[in-house]
Amino acid sequence: KKSTGKKPLVISTWDVGINANKAAWKILKTNGRALDAVEAGVMVTEAEKVNCCVGLNAYPDRDGHVTLDASIMDEYGNAGSVAFIERIKHPISVARLVMEKTPHVMLAGSGAQQFAVEQGFPLEPDKLSDEAEKAYQEWLKKSEYKPVINIENTKGQNAFAPAYLNDGLLNHDTIGMIAIDAQGNLSGSCTTSGLAFKMRGRVGDSPIAGAGLFVDNEIGAAVSTGVGEEVMKVCGTHIVVEAMRSGMQPEDACRFAVERIVKRNTAEKIKDIQVAFIAIDK
Ligand code: ASP
Repeated sequence: KKSTGKKPLVISTWDVGINANKAAWKILKTNGRALDAVEAGVMVTEAEKVNCCVGLNAYPDRDGHVTLDASIMDEYGNAGSVAFIERIKHPISVARLVMEKTPHVMLAGSGAQQFAVEQGFPLEPDKLSDEAEKAYQEWLKKSEYKPVINIENTKGQNAFAPAYLNDGLLNHDTIGMIAIDAQGNLSGSCTTSGLAFKMRGRVGDSPIAGAGLFVDNEIGAAVSTGVGEEVMKVCGTHIVVEAMRSGMQPEDACRFAVERIVKRNTAEKIKDIQVAFIAIDK
């Protein structure tokens, strides 16, 4: 869409983002900082009791453990992220502390968890939610590992979710959120359990600056969802922001990045891949 120039503004991925937007909006409408809004927003999704793809109640990896990725970027272009973190309820808040309290951008695995605990985050039990346990048991019957995922079927459902979960449970996919506050500053956040039944140790695009999330306060912000491997291979959100720098409208810039992914895949391969970007410009 053509820019309206209206501020503040918040957008996020999937229907699950609606509740998250509400939480972010509370902060934005009272002239709060975009960074606080995008953190508070996705925390709502991370805490959801039933959600296939975000937070500790999400689907596990193929070994039966939920492992989470998250990233955040502020209006100064600072970035923080955690990858392959386990047993921590709010990876987005840990990512923010990596950005604000360490000289690093990304912490992974047990190191990320250790940092979280040092910062006072409780270690949650290593236990699947009832829904995730059901889905995992279902998946184990075939234990089929297909590295293509997050393909929705024609009803807009998650192809990887067992049929009984798709009946009415469409609360799916990574949440990515970007916002511009009343002061005109941009920030973004992204948090996910990654691909369901992924290989242990797999990390997607979501915690990687320039892949799953990119913010440049002079130009705009973008976040992605879908098959992270494809987004990583082109540095997807960086493409979107650079396309806006060259004058494209946000929607055109997102299309441009999607087309790059289409171009580097065969027609046969691309039909099994789903990728999406959202963006806002300055
Ligand atoms: N992009 C995420 C990943 O590859 C998955 C998603 O968007 O649902 O980890």
